[in-house]
Order: sequence, then C-alpha cells, then structure tokens
Amino acid sequence: MARKQPKKRAALPHAARSPSLASLSSLPRMPILPRLPRDAHDDHSTAAVLARRELVRAATGVEFELVAGAPAPLESARGKCESLIGFAQVPLGLAGPLAVDTTAGRREVYVPMATNEGALVASHSRGMRLLAAAGGARSRVVREGLTQVPIFVYANAERALAARARVLRAEKSFTKLVAGTTRHGKLVRVLADVVGRRLVVELTFTTGDAIGINMAARATELVAARIAKSTRALEHALHGQDVEKRANARATYEGRGRSVVCDATIPRAALAALARTTPEDLRALWHTYQVGFARLGTQNQCVQSANGLAAVLLACGQDVAYLPECATGFLDLDVAADGALYASVTLPSLLVGTVGGGSQKGTAVECLRLLGCEGAGGANTFAELLGAVVLAGDLSLMAAFATHEFVAAHEKLGRNRPVRPVR
Ligand code: NAP
Repeated sequence: MARKQPKKRAALPHAARSPSLASLSSLPRMPILPRLPRDAHDDHSTAAVLARRELVRAATGVEFELVAGAPAPLESARGKCESLIGFAQVPLGLAGPLAVDTTAGRREVYVPMATNEGALVASHSRGMRLLAAAGGARSRVVREGLTQVPIFVYANAERALAARARVLRAEKSFTKLVAGTTRHGKLVRVLADVVGRRLVVELTFTTGDAIGINMAARATELVAARIAKSTRALEHALHGQDVEKRANARATYEGRGRSVVCDATIPRAALAALARTTPEDLRALWHTYQVGFARLGTQNQCVQSANGLAAVLLACGQDVAYLPECATGFLDLDVAADGALYASVTLPSLLVGTVGGGSQKGTAVECLRLLGCEGAGGANTFAELLGAVVLAGDLSLMAAFATHEFVAAHEKLGRNRPVRPVR
C-alpha cells in the first residue's frame, strides 16, 4: 500500500553524502521513501508517468529534464562517440525503493533501470520489497583494483626468469613512474609469472571514482616500455593477456575493478507474504541450480545479475561492454537458524565509475544523482548499491521459479510478442 508522502524530503540523495546520513542509520530500519504509484488502468499514460516523476521530485529533490525528454546537447557526446547522428532511446523505469546499509551509511533510493525487457523492473521492485522487509541489505566493497596484464617475450625461459626477478625488484620505481601520469590512479601491486619464454606481468591500480581503464592503460604503456627496455625483451604486448570485457577465471576469484559482497536475512513470514515461498524451497531450488552451474562450468552463478546490471549500467552512463566481467559472481541461499532466508551475492568484478566515461553526461547524470552517487566520492557506494540490485533481482527470480510463476509474469508484463500491423 502506498505510504503517505512525508513533508520534508527535498534532498535525500545529496543529504545522504553529508553527516546527516549517519543519523539515518540510527532510525528504525523501515522504508522511508514512498512506494511508487501505479495506475491499474493504464500505467504508461502521460498522467501515470508524470505522477511518478512528481513523487520522485518531491521525495528526493531530483529534477528530471533530460530523462523527461529535453534534448541532450550534441556537445555532450564529444570524446564519447564518433560520427554522431543523435542519441538512442531506451525506456527508463524506476525500481524500489531500495534500502541498503553501505560503507557510507544507510541509503534508501529509487533505482533507474533502462530496459526493453518487460517484467524486469517489476521483478527487481519485488526483490527490493523483500530486502526492505529484512531491514535493508548490507553491502560492502571488499576489494579495489583494476588489473592490466602486459606480456614480454624472451629467447628462452631462463631469460624470462631473470626478467621476472628484475621486474619484482623494480616495483617502487614503477609506482613513482605511474604517480607522474595520474592524480587519482595508483599502482598498488606488481606480480610476475613465467610461462615458457614469456613473462606475464600483472599490474594492479586503484583508480579513484573512475573505472580507470584509460589512466591504467596510459600508465601500463610507460611501465611496459621501461620493462621491455631494461630486460631487453624481444617483443612485448600491452594487452598480452587480455582480461578486458570477458568473464575469466582469475577475475572470478581475485576480482577486478570493485569487488562487492551484499547480504540480507529475510524473515520467513515476509517471504511467504511477498513471494509465496519458503526458505527451504528456495534453498532446494538453489541446490539444483548449483548442479546445473557446475555442469556448465559458468563463472556467473547468479540467476539474473546480467539483467539488473545491464539496465542500471545503461541508465547510469557506464560502459556496458564490461557486463561479462560485471555479471560474474555468486548467489548463496540458505536457511538461517531462526528459519529465515539468508541470501547473499558476491560480485568480484564490477567495472563501474561515477567519474569519466559517460557517467557525467546526459541522462546518466540525473540517474546517478537519483542514486546519490554522482561524481567524485560516489563510485564505491554505486558499486554497493549494484550489489543490492543484483540480490533483489535474484531473490525475486528464484521465488518466481520456485512458485512456477515465471512464465505467467512474463505473459502478463512482458507482452513480448510483436505487435500485429494494423490493416
Ligand atoms: P577517464 O575519463 O578516461 O579518466 C578519468 C579522468 O577523470 C582522469 O583524467 C582523472 O584524472 C579524472 N578524475 C577527476 N576526478 C577523479 C576522481 N575522483 N576519480 C578518478 N578520476 C578522476 O575514465 P576512465 O575510467 O579511465 O576510462 C573510462 C572510459 O574508457 C570509458 O569511456 C570506457 O568506455 C573507455 N575504455 C577505454 C579502454 C582503453 O583500453 N583505453 C578500454 C575500454 C574502455 P587523473 O588521471 O589525473 O587522476
């Protein structure tokens, strides 16, 4: 049931950055933001859309101009897209409210999702209601580090091993070299491995609030040139072991970008009321999924991480080509001692940023502002919110599978058959 709109709610996402955020943590863990209104007669009518925008503006203080249809300045695509002819349009919906205990304190947000998949936003909203019933999810960035992996070739393994020793001894000088190229990027680790006559060097950078791939690539080029010269490599390749934009075993266990763990304990009664299922049924279904995943050998052991992530990354101006890495992760469902459902997701490789790329352009700015993650200082919170989005989506989808409601929900909301031409 929609809650009555609280009077003073003008700037929640921005306030969420200020010390007043801390006071939110001490409030009872109940949803504060009102539920989004739905129009049972026609939820896509102008009136229904305007009512939602107005409620969000009043509740959060965020104004939608570009999202509402104002043209994006052509200038905003400079450095982002060549041979420009305009901007693609994707429907944008809001899921939530989503309640999350983040490193920066408790957040409650509406989540922007750009998608053409009917039922996706509704499914995530249902999962977010389950998380609200748990008092919110708890989400943490547990590791940060963007890797670049140049490879060097020598005459034989002995030379490659000698080069390895030299590289490991020179770590401090590489750190200094990198510090001269970027203010926010930092070389934090150098590893080196020999494969036959090839030396595989793994450089790990922290990158502030950017994904940081440009700053890391620039720094790697300099470090690699120095290594090649000082070790007299026969050849070297900057992206020798190309870990970019593909799921890979090392990113799964070591992580790349920002690694996030998010969990919640959902009361049994809430699971029954909101999703018509039980912790035992979900755990049993999860067991079957694990058998299936083991057989596939997949590195994505969540059930719909790609769905929720694609929609939020697109809305927030991220490089969606990182999705194969971002969607890699693990869901875990179990029955807690008190009979509640314990649920967690681990996403080791979130390549996301709130500075750089498309994050500070066009509709993305309004969407990141809605999440309270715009610009400097926002990237880790953004990653932690993404963890909760994935947990919500996976909970809802597993519940739909457990109750055999998945197809019916898509038939009702998806309407995915092509429209017949009118004759
Ligand atoms: P970027 O916009 O290239 O770099 C971020 C810039 O913002 C840096 O110049 C940095 O300055 C500055 N900055 C200011 N405040 C910052 C803060 N708080 N945190 C971090 N940086 C801050 O962004 P990027 O993340 O490195 O690159 C992302 C883009 O690269 C995306 O568009 C992506 O599609 C594209 N991309 C590139 C490659 C490639 O191999 N080159 C591959 C895939 C994708 P300082 O450096 O001085 O700190």
